[in-house]
Amino acid sequence: MATTELSLDEIYALAYDCLTINGADHENASALANTIMTAERDGSVSHGLFRLPAYVASLRSGKVNGKARPKATTTTPALVRLHGDNGYAPMAHQVGIPLLIEAARTSGVGLLAISHVHHMAALWPEVEALAEADLAGLACTAYMPMVAPAGATSALFGTNPIAFAWPRPGQSPVVYDMATASMAMGEVQVAAREGHDVPPGTGLDKDGQPTTDPAAIADGGVLLPFGGYKGSAIAMMVELLAAGLVGENFSFEAREGDNGDGGPPQGGQFILAMSPEIVAGSGWESHCEGFFARLTGLEGVRLPGERRHKNRLSDAPRAINTPLVEKIRGLMS
Ligand code: NDP
Repeated sequence: MATTELSLDEIYALAYDCLTINGADHENASALANTIMTAERDGSVSHGLFRLPAYVASLRSGKVNGKARPKATTTTPALVRLHGDNGYAPMAHQVGIPLLIEAARTSGVGLLAISHVHHMAALWPEVEALAEADLAGLACTAYMPMVAPAGATSALFGTNPIAFAWPRPGQSPVVYDMATASMAMGEVQVAAREGHDVPPGTGLDKDGQPTTDPAAIADGGVLLPFGGYKGSAIAMMVELLAAGLVGENFSFEAREGDNGDGGPPQGGQFILAMSPEIVAGSGWESHCEGFFARLTGLEGVRLPGERRHKNRLSDAPRAINTPLVEKIRGLMS
């Protein structure tokens, strides 16, 4: 695979310039370019520059508002509702996360219910921002049916990611961020691009047959939930929290309302913040550190999030797929 070395600043500038040339204003382009840059920095390659052509397609089609000004309403002290003004999710987070932190610090728990937003990024940035404020965070979103519920061969659930972060004052939080599909569609597309198989159980082809060929899954097939009926139940929960509770589209409704430009459809996001200081009281840090010491003391265990946090320490240029860089440059003329 041919790659092009780009520094983190160059990655940010490439994304920012491409977004502004295609209709985003400074605030929206910088929020999204920062999300793209941090994804590449941490090695979340399926949610970095790889997504930029789809982001651009939605700016060009007019589906996504590149000049969004999300509006928040604090409905109760613990509930912040945020209308995303049909922009990309990072812009909504910029407005909503500080309000959510305030709500959780006041009430012990806070809920940020985001509607009218387009989310196609990793979820760890929003929950890490909560952990950095000494809060536990739980986030999920549901878009576009791509996953067959356990027992079915046609899709009803989105890949429905769920992310959780736990604060560890003075060190990196523990963060997991995962699709409830056996694999994120972005990872399947990267595997197809790079020509390697995916594990058995990842998905079905367009005839409903199990396959390890990522192209057969991406091209008219379906993904399967992780962990059979258990993962299927969690994917269903994500639909209910991010759509039913927030008052936004279920994945199947998102598809019905989408213009098919390849970018993310309109949907919602559920973000819960909880204060261990208020709920457990003082001493929670050392209590939980004792738990982490037991956990990591077991042979073979590593904490989720550790891989990304190690990648983050390097400020070396990142190797970006060359055809992708060329494709992005082509979107700037
Ligand atoms: P992975 O399966 O790669 O990783 C899931 C989690 O497991 C990560 O937190 C990872 O931590 C952790 N992990 C991996 N290996 C281990 C291990 N050996 N021990 C302990 N922890 C481990 O993620 P997915 O492919 O499921 O999802 C990729 C991304 O796609 C996510 O960021 C998700 O938010 C995003 N996504 C976004 C969607 C959207 O609509 N916006 C839709 C679907 C997915 P680490 O990072 O440290 O390896």
